[in-house]
Amino acid sequence: MKTNNLGYPRIGSNRELKKASELYWAGKISADELIDTGKEIRLKNWKLQSDTGVDLIPSNDFSFYDQVLDLTLTVGAIPERYYEFAKSNSSLDLYFVMARGAQKNGQDVVAMEMTKWFDTNYHYIVPEFTKNQKFELFSEKIVHEFKEAKDIGVKTKPVLIGPVSYLLLGKEKEEGFHRIDLLDKLLPVYFEILERLQAENAEYIQFDEPFLALNLTDKERSAFTKVYNEINNRFPKLKVVLANYFDCFGENIETALALPVDTLHLDLVRCPLQLDDILESGKLASNVNLSLGVVDGRNIWKNDFVKSLELIQKATAVLGENRILVAPSCSLIHSPCDLDLETNNQTLTPEIKQWLAFAKQKINEIVLLKQFASKEVDVKLSADYERNIVANENRKTSKLIHNDEVKKRVANITASDDKRKNNFAVRRKSQIEALKLPLFPTTTIGSFPQTTEVRSWRAKFKKGELTAEQYNDLIEKETEATIRFQEETGIDVLVHGEFERNDMVEYFGEQLAGFTFTKNGWVQSYGSRCVKPPVIYGDVSRPNPMTVKWSKYAQSLTPKWVKGMLTGPVTIMQWSFVRNDQPRSETCTQIALAIRDEVVDLEKAGIKIIQIDEPAIREGLPLRKEEWATYLDWAVKAFRISASGVNDDTQIHTHMCYSEFNDIIQNIADMDADVITIECSRSQMELLDAFADFNYPNEIGPGVYDIHSPRVPSSEEMVKLLEKASAVIPVDQLWVNPDCGLKTRHWDETKKALIAMVTAAQEMRAAIEYPVSL
Ligand code: GLN
Ligand code: ZN
Repeated sequence: MKTNNLGYPRIGSNRELKKASELYWAGKISADELIDTGKEIRLKNWKLQSDTGVDLIPSNDFSFYDQVLDLTLTVGAIPERYYEFAKSNSSLDLYFVMARGAQKNGQDVVAMEMTKWFDTNYHYIVPEFTKNQKFELFSEKIVHEFKEAKDIGVKTKPVLIGPVSYLLLGKEKEEGFHRIDLLDKLLPVYFEILERLQAENAEYIQFDEPFLALNLTDKERSAFTKVYNEINNRFPKLKVVLANYFDCFGENIETALALPVDTLHLDLVRCPLQLDDILESGKLASNVNLSLGVVDGRNIWKNDFVKSLELIQKATAVLGENRILVAPSCSLIHSPCDLDLETNNQTLTPEIKQWLAFAKQKINEIVLLKQFASKEVDVKLSADYERNIVANENRKTSKLIHNDEVKKRVANITASDDKRKNNFAVRRKSQIEALKLPLFPTTTIGSFPQTTEVRSWRAKFKKGELTAEQYNDLIEKETEATIRFQEETGIDVLVHGEFERNDMVEYFGEQLAGFTFTKNGWVQSYGSRCVKPPVIYGDVSRPNPMTVKWSKYAQSLTPKWVKGMLTGPVTIMQWSFVRNDQPRSETCTQIALAIRDEVVDLEKAGIKIIQIDEPAIREGLPLRKEEWATYLDWAVKAFRISASGVNDDTQIHTHMCYSEFNDIIQNIADMDADVITIECSRSQMELLDAFADFNYPNEIGPGVYDIHSPRVPSSEEMVKLLEKASAVIPVDQLWVNPDCGLKTRHWDETKKALIAMVTAAQEMRAAIEYPVSL
């Protein structure tokens, strides 16, 4: 039996890579210094894994920005617009320009697109393909890193995204072909890589083919068969580890089991039942080994050794120990680095800490599991085993986790709890009467610029350099100034500006019971960007109102409506580390009840318009389509539970900022928010077609100001967008607002853009000669 790691975090346990990259981009350190930092991280990671006793240690899992972009460079799929830059710059700079674009020294070249890596919060750089796409071995990074590890005595297993997944991850940049057709051109470069690796005496190679977990066309599916048969024919001695993760093989299972590889990796965290299917089917070829992904690479909980050993033993009973590898479910880049660095007992209490494992601890877990399963170590004599049992037992019964009140409340939810008192048509009449808003009402999405100053107040307050009172005063002043600005500009529905919030999830997590935070639990999100998700460890409840004070204060300053601002249950859950001891739907419902209480309290405090942001609803969609309905069902229900405690004349808004609504438009309508604001300006309102075709019944605010750019749009541009919108959506259903919150913008741009936005709304109103009957 062996251990097999799929990938290790490359940001460094103290985010060394983030810091060095940003210094390099700012011109403050040299390329060599950055390269050295990268090397140090790699050497440390290899050494740690080899000292811990991992057998198959990955290499080429390191990246200065993104592993997909690395591969794009490796196979020379460099889009033409970078050729000019490439002529006079190093390949490292070319690489960063592809990732980030460049706008200096007369250069002006846009970055490649970035998108989410499957259902994770990691973002990769999307390969761009043309019909006559050429591939060539352009970078030998994978070979260099193999040699680098060999030099310190670690013989690694290089990791590469498999050719089928690589093509499927990309996009066709012109019509007339499907990217999978490029396979024959791409494969020779893979062969070349394999030859070089073999020349260096590589024994193993890992191909990541996560598309094997998705719904595929026949053509895509048969590409796997072709690729791995060819590789096997040409490189019969090379041991191919084929890694699938994030979900089951589904209907691809026959294809997967028939591939002539050395080892097939299974994600048994996401898909534990698959093991039974495979073992019982008898279809696994007798020379294929199984890598059992039993340690969760996507979450921070300590492994349950009892459960994992059961799975491993089930497999060894059928296949024998020699054919089993113990592994994390996926690459550990989705885990924070090292729990040992969490030394602050106040933020992370010792009781909770003992339930957790980060990447370094997970490596140790797979080694221990192998030792136990192979009887190298007797569990009865192992202190590690004992500690694991005690910690997990403690977690099951801990008072910190279980709140009977909350459980009872969830169990007693009735059918009426997720429904407003009346349907939208009835509510609308009450709201028109109560709110007296003009046609094309103007509003914003919530946050106003989070200036360095505002952020410095929070930092000083945390360090104790400002008293609570002083901090409060500063936030009050900023809020008041923002209210005054909105009044002067003539915005109809105001917001308080969210200056008191660090982050739209963390702010709520900090005030909800059942959440805790790490000091150093960073996970790479994209490039040098890392996120530190809150940890939901227990039943969630809301001990006190969370936003009422600020909303009430802002409303007290003005006769205009101030919109209350909340983050929705799905988004709070989606952007946190979630409990694994109960279904996600259960956790989500608990959060929904807490948000519902907040909504009701806001209403009681005189707030008549309340927005519940759900920007993460879509990204929570399961990878396999057949699981969508179940997810959407409970996710939409959770939103409705949070929104349905109020009277007809309280107006509920929601906000989402992405552009693919077509396939979930029915579910969005089912959320039954009175108003939805969405991103729209970049797509020039094209996205509204989904709403128009569907006859979306409630009100819509299509964004007319792209807040992702420092550019200030003119009122004429916004009028054009609004005219486009009113061509497909009845005017009395339309709102006027930016695409998303303004927190990343500067005040000067924000002011100009919002003034133009109000002008645009006024022009739209003026153009309507007759009163629209409502
Ligand atoms: N209300 C939030 C804001 O304005 C919404 C952010 C988001 O959609 N990501 O910042
Ligand atoms: Zn948004």
